[in-house]
Amino acid sequence: MTARTRRPMVGGNWKMNTTFPEAVRLADDLKRRIGRLRAVDIVVYPPFPFIEAVARRFDGERVTVGAQDLHAKASGAFTGAVSGPQLRSVGCTSVLIGHSERRHVFGDSDVTIAGKLAAALQADLDVVLCVGETLAERDGDRTFAVCERQLASALHGLDATALQRVVVAYEPVWAIGTGRNATPGQAQDVHRFIREWLAGAFGAATATATRIQYGGSVKADNVAELMAGPDVDGALVGGASLQAESFASIIQAVGQAGTPSSKS
Ligand code: PEP
Repeated sequence: MTARTRRPMVGGNWKMNTTFPEAVRLADDLKRRIGRLRAVDIVVYPPFPFIEAVARRFDGERVTVGAQDLHAKASGAFTGAVSGPQLRSVGCTSVLIGHSERRHVFGDSDVTIAGKLAAALQADLDVVLCVGETLAERDGDRTFAVCERQLASALHGLDATALQRVVVAYEPVWAIGTGRNATPGQAQDVHRFIREWLAGAFGAATATATRIQYGGSVKADNVAELMAGPDVDGALVGGASLQAESFASIIQAVGQAGTPSSKS
């Protein structure tokens, strides 16, 4: 596959953390620290109630604001749910789909996730599609099969144009919030597999252009080695995104690791 420039991307998933004052403080602190970092696309995913305020904080900055989930329907009698058009209307521009906690804690199925992904695109939101295997699936040598199943079902029916709005995040379930990250070799192997799968499904040009982030216990002191993989285009960060200092250090390291063409 020919080397090309994919802009590195770092996401910060705040999960169900922060109160409103803490969220605003975190956004302000981050804004101060990333002032001169230009080489990386940065997205933060605050809790739903804080999206608008955080988006205002980053208005005119290079940081965009995403949501951690959405409902597949645009409106209606779905108590407690939040829709794509609602997110769009408060300055949200992207959404995580299929995060492991949605799959394994809330029970989102492959079908549910496919519906959410279609709804996000319909609502003009960019998508980060999270895929990844559990420890039992890895130990059972089913990592590639699981990722393939999750990709195929979520992306079924999309064309190459639609895929331009999709980033894939490889997040092994056993690495999320555990302090145990994938080794750089394990991450690169799965990222390469994902890119090859995308090439088969959407063509080589689309696969080459699609960004694939790694997520799972990414920290300032392990991100550089993870980024060394030629198919690793950035990081999706949970715990370490809750401190502006550590998140900014991760962003800086990703920026220094550079694009795939500058890595080779
Ligand atoms: C995540 O929530 O997507 C994640 C990768 O979490 P952590 O960085 O805490 O493992």
